[in-house]
Amino acid sequence: MVRYINVRTSARTELVDITADVQEVIAEIGLEEGVCYLFVPHTTGAVTINEGADPSVRRDIIKTLSQLIPRDGGYAHMEGNSDAHIKSSLVGASAYVFVEKGKLLLGTWQSIFFCEFDGPRHRRVAIKVLG
Ligand code: ZN
Repeated sequence: MVRYINVRTSARTELVDITADVQEVIAEIGLEEGVCYLFVPHTTGAVTINEGADPSVRRDIIKTLSQLIPRDGGYAHMEGNSDAHIKSSLVGASAYVFVEKGKLLLGTWQSIFFCEFDGPRHRRVAIKVLG
C-alpha cells in the first residue's frame, strides 16, 4: 500500500523538511527493518536528502540551482515554468532510506526535503516501504 504525505508549500522555490512526517509514517506502519521509498508525483517538484541542521545550506542549494537554471532562459515550453521542470529532473523524483529498529537510518546532519520549484502549491509525496 502506498501512503502519502501532504506538503503545503509557501514560496515558488522552497525546500521543506519532511523528515518527521516520513518518520511518522514509518511508525504508523510499524516497520522495524526495511527500506522506505519516497516518490514525488509532480513534474516541478523533487525530493532530496541533505543537511537539515543549518538552514543556510537549503538557501545555498536554491540559490545555486537558480543561478544554473534561470527562470527566463528562453525556453520553448509555453507554460513559463521550464526552469522548474529542469530543476525537478536534476534533483530527481525519488529517494530511499534504510530503516532500522523503527527509525530512518539518516546521517547525523541529514534531513529529507521536498523540493518545490513552482509553488506555492499543495503537493504530495508517496511512500512505500519494503520490510
Ligand atoms: Zn510546465
